[in-house]
Amino acid sequence: MTGPPTVLTNPPPLVVLGAGYAGLTVAEEARRRSRGTLPIVLVDRHPVHVLRTQLYEIGALARANGRVARWVVPLADLLDRSGVTLREGTVEAIDLERRTVRVDDAELAFGTLAICLGNVANYYGVPGAREHTETVYRLSGAQRLAGALRRIEAASAGLPGEQRPRVVVVGGGSTGTELAAEVATTDWSEVVGGPARPPDVFLLTGSLPFLAGFAPSLIDRARRTLVHSGVAIVPGINVTEVEPNRVHLADGTVLACDLAVWCAGLEAPAVVRDLPAPHGKGGRLVPEPTLELPGRPGVFAVGDVVEFADRESGLLVPATAQAALSEARVAARNVVARIEGRSLEPYRYRERGMLVALGVRRGAGRIGGVTLWGRPARLLKGAVEREYSRTAERGEPSGLL
Ligand SMILES: Cc1cc2nc3c(=O)[nH]c(=O)nc-3n(C[C@H](O)[C@H](O)[C@H](O)COP(=O)(O)OP(=O)(O)OC[C@H]3O[C@@H](n4cnc5c(N)ncnc54)[C@H](O)[C@@H]3O)c2cc1C
Repeated sequence: MTGPPTVLTNPPPLVVLGAGYAGLTVAEEARRRSRGTLPIVLVDRHPVHVLRTQLYEIGALARANGRVARWVVPLADLLDRSGVTLREGTVEAIDLERRTVRVDDAELAFGTLAICLGNVANYYGVPGAREHTETVYRLSGAQRLAGALRRIEAASAGLPGEQRPRVVVVGGGSTGTELAAEVATTDWSEVVGGPARPPDVFLLTGSLPFLAGFAPSLIDRARRTLVHSGVAIVPGINVTEVEPNRVHLADGTVLACDLAVWCAGLEAPAVVRDLPAPHGKGGRLVPEPTLELPGRPGVFAVGDVVEFADRESGLLVPATAQAALSEARVAARNVVARIEGRSLEPYRYRERGMLVALGVRRGAGRIGGVTLWGRPARLLKGAVEREYSRTAERGEPSGLL
């Protein structure tokens, strides 16, 4: 039984910044919760929702050669008939005092606000890293990387002797691991449509442990799978400088390479780092347990842009799409509660599982206490990703892991 519809009398709009996993879910859930009575403006610099969790599929991206439909969902199709207004543009500034947002040259006033702008690569001041490495954090970066790999592989048959192309991946978290495994296991001859030598892949984990935060048994298995696929894991040594085709390590080693990829860490975008609000690591916003910024009623921060410590364990909630979606549902309910003058609910993180791709045919993960390996884990990861894009296309809530 649903109760009588709540009528919100001409509330000023909810403005949602960012149409990623967090922003899209906040907008759709707030629309549902307010039964369409709350005006909602969703702002993103791109007209598409990027399926960012799939950007490690670098072989497939290289094969697609610019046809990226598989990695995006057009926002206009998604929001058609939803009543959510899409505003394409770049968020340049957020004024929490005047309750306005600057999008390109225009100013947008908000009644409530959800900041869901994700994150950007953090180069930790390493000289040359920004200029001379590729990334997979955004679709444009992943496409550039895919193009570079294509070119290197297409030329590889002409290398002298037994020489192979060399790819260095910096960062041993799940993004670096998935990417290194994907590069090592892709059939590059098939991608370039001619002879190609498989690349030598180095995964530099830096001072952080390989796959930090994952269960020890899973880490061991993942390490063995990567080594079996030909990935050389170099632990414990930070990168100190990157030059074109050369990566310098803290122990004095210089690794020559055809391509270096930066997967070493993330920080909040500058527009968020500049906000007068509590900040955590990498400039992420530290909200109240309700995801509202302290002393800023109606201003919420959701997804990768947030540093949130779980109240029970004290552990930081990981920067995952899974967490972004669950935070977004709570934030949307709290937006409507704030407008209606009801009390806000705290966010509690519950991990539903973890799956990591270890190449085109293998994976590893834990779901509901059950550990999965190899082909079944990889198939499940693919199924979860397809399920998310299907539900996103239909504008339905997703159970993405
Ligand atoms: C290769 C890779 C694999 C991953 N695999 C997994 C996985 O298997 N499972 C998992 O749970 N998580 C995974 N993640 C993490 C997951 O992608 C993020 O946690 C998730 O995208 C966070 O959602 P978000 O909405 O906070 O940010 P995003 O999805 O990044 O969305 C941010 C949005 O804000 C927009 N934006 C940013 N700045 C501006 C601006 N100034 N103006 C206008 N618009 C702006 C962007 O265009 C974007 O649409 C992976 C990440 C990567 C990179």
